[in-house]
Amino acid sequence: MAEKGILMVLSGFSGAGKGTLMRRLLEIYDNYALSVSMTTRSPREGERHGVEYFFVTKEEFEQTIEKEGLIEYANYCGNYYGTPRAYVEEQLQKGKDVILEIEIQGALQIKKKFPDSLLLFVTPPSAQELRRRLEGRGTETPEVIAKRLARAGEEAEGIENYDYIVVNDDLEVCTKEIHNIVNAARNNPIRRQAFIEKIKEDMKSFKEGANE
Ligand code: 5GP
Repeated sequence: MAEKGILMVLSGFSGAGKGTLMRRLLEIYDNYALSVSMTTRSPREGERHGVEYFFVTKEEFEQTIEKEGLIEYANYCGNYYGTPRAYVEEQLQKGKDVILEIEIQGALQIKKKFPDSLLLFVTPPSAQELRRRLEGRGTETPEVIAKRLARAGEEAEGIENYDYIVVNDDLEVCTKEIHNIVNAARNNPIRRQAFIEKIKEDMKSFKEGANE
């Protein structure tokens, strides 16, 4: 059976380039699977149901919460966002490293429920660069941009809760850096417990042999 995959959280300020980074990770490497979230926000131009998000009504979202169909959820700038349970569990069992691109409230719920999850925080090199990227994207109104920048300020307070921060200056460099972190994290004892138990058990026979 395949070794269970790593449940990864990729958070970062809106405009930090998380979306592009994730697409690049999925393009280059075959060990990742991307979880598609459920949200009550309206689709942006070009977004498709089931691809960027599952776009649902508030009622549908609340029903899913009641059925325990989400492993975490949060309210972000007036809309619900949550991670559907079934896909994540299925992919982890298959040995895939599952990426959740979620904000900080959700990330903290994940860390609590799954202590062996890996939390990465993506940040642009500076606050000025973040503003420039958000304005350059052209998909949001100035009011929404202002709200998101204010929210970024709040989220900056929570960066210490993450396992690693990654500065996204150059896309290719940053993609490789994330991949290296994930591979190193595979060998953290918290994720190798079955192996550790086995080797400890086997070592016992040496001790017994020495006592004879
Ligand atoms: P956007 O509206 O720009 O697509 O996403 C807004 C924020 O919601 C981003 O910070 C994104 O990471 C976060 N988000 C997306 N999906 C989820 C989710 O399933 N759960 C949580 N907690 N946050 C999410």
